[in-house]
Amino acid sequence: MKPAPFELARPANLAEAAAALAQNLGEARLLAGGQSLGPMLNLRLVRPAMLVAIAHLPELGAVAEDADAVTIGAAVTHAAIADGRTPDVGNRILARIADGIAYRAVRNLGTIGGSLCHGDPAADWLTTLTALGASAITWSKTGGRAIPLAHFITGAFRTALAPGEIVQAVRVPRPSSQAHWGYYKACRKPGEFAHAMAAVLDDSARGVRRAVIGAAGGPPVVLEGEQVTPVAAGDALRTAGLDAVARHMQAVALKRALAEAVA
Ligand SMILES: Cc1cc2nc3c(=O)[nH]c(=O)nc-3n(C[C@H](O)[C@H](O)[C@H](O)COP(=O)(O)OP(=O)(O)OC[C@H]3O[C@@H](n4cnc5c(N)ncnc54)[C@H](O)[C@@H]3O)c2cc1C
Repeated sequence: MKPAPFELARPANLAEAAAALAQNLGEARLLAGGQSLGPMLNLRLVRPAMLVAIAHLPELGAVAEDADAVTIGAAVTHAAIADGRTPDVGNRILARIADGIAYRAVRNLGTIGGSLCHGDPAADWLTTLTALGASAITWSKTGGRAIPLAHFITGAFRTALAPGEIVQAVRVPRPSSQAHWGYYKACRKPGEFAHAMAAVLDDSARGVRRAVIGAAGGPPVVLEGEQVTPVAAGDALRTAGLDAVARHMQAVALKRALAEAVA
């Protein structure tokens, strides 16, 4: 199928993009890499009257780093991160996550901000960046804010963004040099969304021991400190409504992520 007709706005900067959104609130959608929105348009699951293209905006392509964190513009592609064209938080953690998303054609266009804003519970960035303690930095006419990714999606394909609010960047704290990291996702074939996924950050120098389970049907399940065990994960996932098979797959993903972190 083809999308329903829409107007395309190509603003020159973030302020113009926000203005185009505000003038057409409820009718306009932001278009980043189009790797999630494109299929939804083609299937006519969404029929916005206007698309506001943002992937080319300089403010969304900026990358900065300091001793504590790396800040990556929302329109930076998975491929740029996988290729090491952006600074990493250490040990190629971000590059390896990006490299495991879909396949090259999708990575060339798909963006880190678009992935988060799509709000898919099984997205790689949502689970892993939540484990790393990252926040989405937003921009709106009334001022920006930092939304911790643990609270960024409120349900499947629903985010905490206010109408007209745009994600400008993602701030990812650097783990210490002694930190242990593990990530495992189970998918039937490469390029497919995961059926189970877990990320573990064990960073005693920063007082962090955290596991995050994604692909759980809603917001990521976050376990801290002594709760980082497959048993505690099983309890949390039962509360989240997962059946026994899904809980088993998630427990295996968590055990493998923990094993990688220990190794
Ligand atoms: C075949 C295929 C396989 C895939 N496999 C995986 C996978 O294994 N793992 C994975 O994690 N992902 C996977 N994806 C999704 C991919 O990572 C997408 O790139 C990503 O989900 C969306 O990014 P995008 O830049 O294309 O956003 P778009 O599709 O352009 O936008 C997605 C949504 O976010 C909104 N949006 C975009 N940018 C912003 C912003 N800055 N502020 C506010 N709202 C914004 C849009 O309005 C839209 O609602 C796959 C996609 C395809 C097509």
